[in-house]
Amino acid sequence: MSLALQDPVSALAGVGEKRQAALRDLGIFTIEDLLTYYPFRYQDLGERMPSETLDGEKVTFKGIVSTPAVVRRFGKKSQTVLGLLIDRENIRVTFFNQPWVAKNIEVGQEVAVYGTYNASRAALSAIKLVPATTNALDPIYPTTKSVRAKTIADLVEQAWGLMRGQMPNLVPAELRKKYRLLDKNQQVEWCHFPSDKAEAKAGRRSAAFEEFFIFQMRLQLIKQADQSFGGQALAYDNQAVQAFIDQLPYQLTNAQDRVVGEILADQKTAQHMNRLLQGDVGSGKTVVAAIAMYATVTAGCQAAMMAPTEILAQQHAKSLAKLFASAGLDLRVELLTSGLKAGQRRQILADLESGEIDIVVGTHALVQDDVYFHHLGLAVIDEQHRFGVKQRSKLREGGMNPDILAMTATPIPRTLSITAYGEMEVSIIDELPAGRKQIITSQMPNRQFDQALALLQAELAKGAQAYVVTPLIEESETLDVRNVTEVYQNLQAALPSYTVGLLHGRLPKEDKDTLMQGFKDNQVQVLVATTVVEVGVDVPNASIMLILDADRFGLAQLHQLRGRVGRGDRQSYTVLVADPKTDYGKERLKALVDTTDGFELAQKDLELRGAGDILGTKQSGMPEFQVGDPVKDLTMLTIAQQEALTLVREPGWDEEVDNRALVAYLSQTMAQFRHFD
Ligand code: ADP
Ligand code: MG
Repeated sequence: MSLALQDPVSALAGVGEKRQAALRDLGIFTIEDLLTYYPFRYQDLGERMPSETLDGEKVTFKGIVSTPAVVRRFGKKSQTVLGLLIDRENIRVTFFNQPWVAKNIEVGQEVAVYGTYNASRAALSAIKLVPATTNALDPIYPTTKSVRAKTIADLVEQAWGLMRGQMPNLVPAELRKKYRLLDKNQQVEWCHFPSDKAEAKAGRRSAAFEEFFIFQMRLQLIKQADQSFGGQALAYDNQAVQAFIDQLPYQLTNAQDRVVGEILADQKTAQHMNRLLQGDVGSGKTVVAAIAMYATVTAGCQAAMMAPTEILAQQHAKSLAKLFASAGLDLRVELLTSGLKAGQRRQILADLESGEIDIVVGTHALVQDDVYFHHLGLAVIDEQHRFGVKQRSKLREGGMNPDILAMTATPIPRTLSITAYGEMEVSIIDELPAGRKQIITSQMPNRQFDQALALLQAELAKGAQAYVVTPLIEESETLDVRNVTEVYQNLQAALPSYTVGLLHGRLPKEDKDTLMQGFKDNQVQVLVATTVVEVGVDVPNASIMLILDADRFGLAQLHQLRGRVGRGDRQSYTVLVADPKTDYGKERLKALVDTTDGFELAQKDLELRGAGDILGTKQSGMPEFQVGDPVKDLTMLTIAQQEALTLVREPGWDEEVDNRALVAYLSQTMAQFRHFD
């Protein structure tokens, strides 16, 4: 069989439709993706002597089978016991529920067994029989429920057998030499099948550099493409904008004032704006966006705002309309979401195209193929990491290249954000509006739930409202996850004089809307919700949030959730109800209790997560790296950035023979982004 790197994984034996779909969820589409899907750790199967092994340690013993394997059955369970002679010491090896091993073992045969050592009994509780050919380090792949790590290992082995030696170098030879990086084939082999730790380390070092370098190349190319489109110089009405700012119900904070200046300056020039507005929850990004949008409208253009969820889109549309109306401005703001009736949608599309709508707010529905603008001058993207390259490039279609203002409430340590968002300019709101009270955060074990409930009741008694957040809606997911419906019913019973609402992702759109409106109007006092309330929801009268099983959320997500309270004049509280089982879980909650500063938390989060944890990266807003760790390997990331920049600035770099594979890879994978995003 001949195979190409770009062939789909289904070209391998044993990959049917179902497995293909499971692999796709891991981002593995092609043979190349599979071969660069590296293990996240290695299991040390290194052979040792019992005398060198501590009690309770996992170890591989190699020896001669000294007594025949005896299987004892207990109903469905079984134990298989045999003696293993290692040097002159006899070890008793027990396999639990693996009766078949007895068939493969004979007295006098040499075998290797991996398991947990019990020193006082000179016994090994066996995990598996290790084939003689196995590597000293067993690669462990990150995976999901739908595909086993072992399956991935087998597929990698199969693919590597067919592709060995055929992987082109993406990192230019000059850089490989300069930084002592491996040839790609050696890199791949040492990452998957290291024969010792040094090989694994060297393989991963090269893989990390390659990953960072490719990432930085993409950023540089996106940036170049952005600039090549050219921007629009908006001749906005400075006086009108100033008048709008003066009409606001509050004075802008210094930080808001500064970033407004940065954004308006960008809008005025012909250079295309691609700016990221970073500001902690509650720092007042919406009004900054509103000012930029209004400026756009005074220049005779339209502005669009994209939000990640319908609830947020609705809320933005409403608060924008209110802001403009209260300033006496007659702007037409419309909402475009997938929930619209066909007729309404058609009307809005027509009015967008004719330019009758000044500002449109929506979800992904804004970047559908049938949406045309009369003259789009600015696109605001809320929570930018949830929109991909495709959405942004769609906005550019039709010859217009609107300025982009992306907003994120996920603070990233400053040094890192410059690297991570290398293609964007960054504006930071590092100040909360005056008079905000610090949110008081506490943590309680589940058995003290009554105390948390008492706190909640006290707030309700003061006329405030409350959120109760639970991680999942399905009991079946894991037994110990509270079922949101159950929580809802219990609260209803516990709080008879208040109205309790239940909000989760499965609810029909109209019900969600009615409920959110009811909560805003204080007809509903307690909102029990899954993470639908995560981002941006603004109800200033809510002063307390209980987060149940809080250890199941990532740090960034918890910080986001907490930002739903403390939005008004009331002293606000967040209570984390959880019994964290891991150190990481404990530290995360402690960090949240200790500080409300998002930048500090972001730093803490990155430190806590380190390289090993694959989960959680999605929530952080940071780009995901497979091998490299942007915290630990920051120097390498920075070098990769400089080298990528140097390369793209070299005239004709993309025509050099040595860079052919790199150029092909970039154009393939960047096109791929557009398809799958
Ligand atoms: P976020 O940055 O989380 O999106 P919002 O834009 O939703 O924050 O603002 C949070 C709250 O603060 C809103 O109720 C908004 O009206 C209010 N706000 C914004 N700017 C100011 C300010 N300069 N002074 C007082 N309140 C403000
Ligand atoms: Mg917001």
